Amino acid sequence: MIKMLVCDFDGTISGGKASLVTDFKQFIERNHALSFVVATGRTLPSICDGLSSGDYPAPTSIISDVGTQLHHGKVLSPDLGWHSNVQQQWDREHLEQLLECLPFVGDQNGLHQGEFKLTFEGKLVPSHIDAIHEVLADNNHKVDVTYSHDWFLDITPAGIHKATALSYLLDSLGIKPQEVVVAGDSANDSTMLTLPGVNAVLVGNHYPEVSHLAERPKVYVAKGHHSNGVIEGFEFWQRSHAVS
Ligand SMILES: [Mg+2]
Repeated sequence: MIKMLVCDFDGTISGGKASLVTDFKQFIERNHALSFVVATGRTLPSICDGLSSGDYPAPTSIISDVGTQLHHGKVLSPDLGWHSNVQQQWDREHLEQLLECLPFVGDQNGLHQGEFKLTFEGKLVPSHIDAIHEVLADNNHKVDVTYSHDWFLDITPAGIHKATALSYLLDSLGIKPQEVVVAGDSANDSTMLTLPGVNAVLVGNHYPEVSHLAERPKVYVAKGHHSNGVIEGFEFWQRSHAVS
């Protein structure tokens, strides 16, 4: 039985016609026993703005800032256990100094910076990413580097991402990965889409950067775009659980 639906926001449940969002809200309301979790690269204020910009259903939990923040319920209670995990090995000021010295690293938009996440914007090529990894390793920073949408460069504490936040959430709720459907569209969704055991959905409008995930056995590639694709994928996995 599927107990939880975890969705990225931008490009996954957002985008397309406004009526798709209303259909999605009705779908979540019909499946009222389902936990609905949003997992996003956005900061908490930014995802709250996003969710209030349309007729989106209220999530039971929000994983934000690419997994570095976790909040629960309508009142958005911070998960202090998760946040203390994340606080280790993070020297924001030094990271900013190092990255600002690299001429190809773009600007930081204040709206996209989180307590444990730095985001730089601009087009990068693979040799740039290699150089970023090198300078961070030379300075003993244990961080992850994620480049997505061919524009956003996220720097986050090592091993802290959407999938580790999701694993922590599942453990705390006693839900198995096999009981979860995860939907996304871009590189910062890769970790949660490939979390062992989960039932993954790539929406039809996914970026080429995650097309290779389609070859994996537990990834369903939807024909539908945005939230239509999420519902299609969820129903596919629900049917396959019913017959297994
Ligand atoms: Mg997205």
